[in-house]
Parts: sequence; C-alpha cells; structure tokens
Amino acid sequence: AIPLSLVVGLGEASRDGILIRDGDALLDLAQADTFVFDKTGTLTALDAPSVDVFVDPSAPASGWEVDARQARHLNATVADTAEWTEERVLHLAAALEATSRHPIGHAIQEQVAQVSSDAITEAETIPGAGVIGTWTAPGGASIRVGIGNDRIVERLSARMPTPLQTRRNRARSEGRTAVTVVVGDRAVAVITLTERMRDGAREAMNRLREKGVRPLVMTGDRGGAAERLQKMLGVPVQAGVTPEEKADRVRQLQAEGAVVAMVGDGINDAAAIAKADVGMARTDGAGVSIDAADIALYHPDADVVADLFMLARETRRIIH
Ligand code: ADP
Ligand code: MG
Repeated sequence: AIPLSLVVGLGEASRDGILIRDGDALLDLAQADTFVFDKTGTLTALDAPSVDVFVDPSAPASGWEVDARQARHLNATVADTAEWTEERVLHLAAALEATSRHPIGHAIQEQVAQVSSDAITEAETIPGAGVIGTWTAPGGASIRVGIGNDRIVERLSARMPTPLQTRRNRARSEGRTAVTVVVGDRAVAVITLTERMRDGAREAMNRLREKGVRPLVMTGDRGGAAERLQKMLGVPVQAGVTPEEKADRVRQLQAEGAVVAMVGDGINDAAAIAKADVGMARTDGAGVSIDAADIALYHPDADVVADLFMLARETRRIIH
C-alpha cells in the first residue's frame, strides 16, 4: 500500500505545477545530495519581445533571385532585389528553428506570424549548437544554411564578417545571448536575445545549500554568460558543456558516489535527465516530450525545485 503521507506529498506537488511519475521518485529525490541545473530554459527564460536582428550591412544580394513561387518564404515579392533585411532573416531563422525545440528557437519563431519551413530540407538539430539545413532560395538554388553559436559557423566553414563579430561580442559583453545566421559560406546576421533569470533561482540555490545539498550549473554557453551566472547565483557554473557531456558528467558524479538530481530541458537535456538518479524536466506543457524524466515541472519559477526537495525530505521523514 502507498503510505498516506506520500499521497499527501504527491497532491501538494501537483498543486504547485509539479507532476511526479511515481511515488518512488519523490523518495529518491529526498536522498539526492547533488543538484545539476541546466541554464537556458531551466534557470533562465527567453522573452520573445527581446529578439533583435542585426543584418551585416555588407551582406550581398546573395546570388539568389526572387521568383513568384518561392517569394512568400521570405515575405518577398518578385520585384524585390534579393537583399537581406531583418524580416527576411527572421523568416529564414524561424523556418530553420521550426524543427528544434530549443528555447532560443521558440523565441525566434514567436517573432514570425506564420512560420513556413517549406523551403528548408534536411534540417538537422545539433544539440548545444543550433540547426543546419538546406534552403531552397527564392530562384531555386540549394544553399546550406544554419543558425546557432560559433560551432555552427565553424561547421559550415562560414566567414564571420567583422561587423557581425563586433555585434556578437558586444551583445555577449552586455549579457545578451547572440546566435548567428549563416547562408552559404558567410554569416549574414546576428540575432540577439535577452535571457532573464527565472524568479526564485537564487533562493533555490541557497535553500538547497542550507539543506546540505550541492547545487551546480552546466551550460552549453561559454565565457561571459557563465561567469555572470556564477556571480549571480553563487554556485559553480560549468561552461561549454554539450548535452552529451552533461550526461557523461552526471555519470562521473555518480561514480564518485553522488546521488544526482538533474533539472533540465526535457528535449535538449534528455540524456542527462535519463542518466540522473532523479530526472526533472522543465516544460511549458505544449506537447513537449518528458519521457526521460521522473518529474515534470510546469511551474515557471525556479524555486519549485527547492520546494519539492523540502517536501520530499518531509515525506520521507514521516514514512521512515
Ligand atoms: P544550455 O546548456 O545553457 O541550456 P544549450 O546547450 O541548450 O544551452 O545551447 C548552448 C548554445 O547553443 C545556445 O546558447 C545557443 O547559442 C546555441 N544553440 C543551441 N540550440 C540552438 C538552437 N536551436 N538555435 C540557435 N542556437 C542554439
Ligand atoms: Mg538548455
């Protein structure tokens, strides 16, 4: 029989927008001594209105011509010269992101009234880096395109013109997230987004630490963003960690004797979530798969994780 206190615990959690797959997960959580958090989407959120596009002023009218059949993909008309504008960059970016379930992709898609990815084929999501695909340009040419961090630029062997480098670096030094849009052999634009800390992130870290738990953050981002986060949260932040490496590091922590709770993004961190002793997936409930997770977090605030941990400890104490 399921002890009454566990039933009460599960009920309390569900009122807070937390879905627990089975009672064991709550009891396992009570034993966790290490909490690994993902950054983007988990501790931070991206607000769609904060999306800005900077087009390289020297970007060529890219060797593609607008024909009637393809024009709508870029909100272009037949009479247009094929120049990159903010709007066209956004349409291309949103089309590429249509297949990704990353918070950055989501914020970009929200900028476009109607995302049409008809012109994109062979779209491939590269976890922790971005999306690459083949674009049928208005006019019919097939061009390799991509959106994401520097790894995407490298992967496409693309040139990053100086104005874009400057804009990207400035955005990063201001604490904004910058992703690059590549068309063919060159970057044509930088899209910047503002990441905001979710409410209760710092409180969650403090409360976990007070309970003798070790919180730490693993992020795919490097440099400024990670340092700032470390300062703001007062916990170690491991930067430049790909989703695959997150799973490896969880395994490594377990090999050192840790009982690991992983709090991540249900899609991009699925491997680490599945590997952890207790896997928690943040989700907005919009049909996002949370199969790998023992616990789904629908509540937008970060400190529900600490609430849940307290509840788990209390439930376990009553049962034992
Ligand atoms: P985190 O670990 O902080 O959640 P990720 O590993 O998911 O970050 O991503 C790391 C970086 O890779 C992002 O900051 C972004 O620059 C890039 N990236 C990943 N996925 C995408 C995507 N779908 N579109 C654009 N950029 C992406
Ligand atoms: Mg993430």
